[in-house]
Amino acid sequence: MKKRLYFDYAATTPLSEKVTKAMELFLSQGISGTFGNPSAIHAFGREALSMIDAARTSLARSLGLIGTEGSRGIIFTSGATEANNMAVRGAVKRARENGIEKPKVIISAIEHESVYETARDLEREGIAECIIVPVSKEGIVGVERIRRAIDERTALVSVMYVNNETGSVQPISEIAETIRNFRNGNFKFKISNLKLNNNYPLFHVDAVQAFQYFNCNPDELGVDLLTLSAHKMYGPKGIGALYRKDPGMIAPLITGGGQEFGARAGTENVAGIAGCAAAAEEARAARGVQVKKVRTVKRAMWRAIREIYPRAEVNGESVEGGSPHILNVWLPGIPNELLLIQLDEAGIAASAGSACHARVPHPSRVVREMHGDIERAKESIRFSFGKYTKLAEIKAFSKVFGEIVQRYRA
Ligand code: PMP
Repeated sequence: MKKRLYFDYAATTPLSEKVTKAMELFLSQGISGTFGNPSAIHAFGREALSMIDAARTSLARSLGLIGTEGSRGIIFTSGATEANNMAVRGAVKRARENGIEKPKVIISAIEHESVYETARDLEREGIAECIIVPVSKEGIVGVERIRRAIDERTALVSVMYVNNETGSVQPISEIAETIRNFRNGNFKFKISNLKLNNNYPLFHVDAVQAFQYFNCNPDELGVDLLTLSAHKMYGPKGIGALYRKDPGMIAPLITGGGQEFGARAGTENVAGIAGCAAAAEEARAARGVQVKKVRTVKRAMWRAIREIYPRAEVNGESVEGGSPHILNVWLPGIPNELLLIQLDEAGIAASAGSACHARVPHPSRVVREMHGDIERAKESIRFSFGKYTKLAEIKAFSKVFGEIVQRYRA
């Protein structure tokens, strides 16, 4: 079989060995396995529940949270899409219950669809007002723009930590400070005569692409709600988590049995939960090493691309800035759809942007928002790296890429 090269770690990652081991206990062991329903009162159930408790504590620790309060803040979900829905819809619902009639939700223009479309959906339904804050050419959201958009009706500000298409890192701590100032009534202006509710706005951060490489301690960042997904950090697909600082911040979306402290009903995905916690633990421990290793790969890839195609430009922050694992490049004159097919034929996996859109080819909203240029979006391609990427793979890529580029030159 032809050797395949995988440069799409931002779309998903393979399971790590440790994660597979952590999940094995719950899979294919028949009657001798740990398969009980965690809600059952007998020993089978208790055993499963204690596994979930242990995973919750472990995930809280990986986030840097200590004590039971921290672990009770974690709600396991079916992935980041659900966690983001839970944060946005749940915060708006609770804000309305708290008397904010038509809550405002402020998001950046480069949020993942699971935040972007959810906020817009609430606006279409007439439930909330959605404010979309633009980004700079580097793909960074302006804190000042957010500051100006916040008022007493604002229930939620949702800004991702690392953008999944360009790797741009957002100023999370600064946004948190702006929000804190507003809550403390430090803003010099007063927009309306609504009573200042000093719990609002809440601050939600989609940290899906950040966790592997950046400190995601919600307390240190000043974040109220934080989203994680296991399959972006060598864990299984279909499992993620939402951390909420206070259980009262969001109303539940999925009602039924009282699982996950009443925040998310449904029999738990025990194997997935164990895998998610194991993945986070491993990723957290490897962070320091991986940041350096993966950045080296990114640098090498950029050097290779520029050498072969000097007109190439980085979309996002410079190669030294941004997340170490994502390199998004504009290749003027080379349509990305064709390039992706040609690379795929050579066994090389890359992407044009968000994987959720990959089957419906359309130019990246993120690149368009940054440059206001649809043509650029059609000629941009994302490479993303991870712990299994080897520098030698960049060499192999260069050879193929060089040949493809020759065809465009011919
Ligand atoms: N947010 C970001 C930033 C992502 O990259 C992704 C995955 N593309 C998601 C949310 C959705 O994650 P999941 O696949 O777990 O639903």
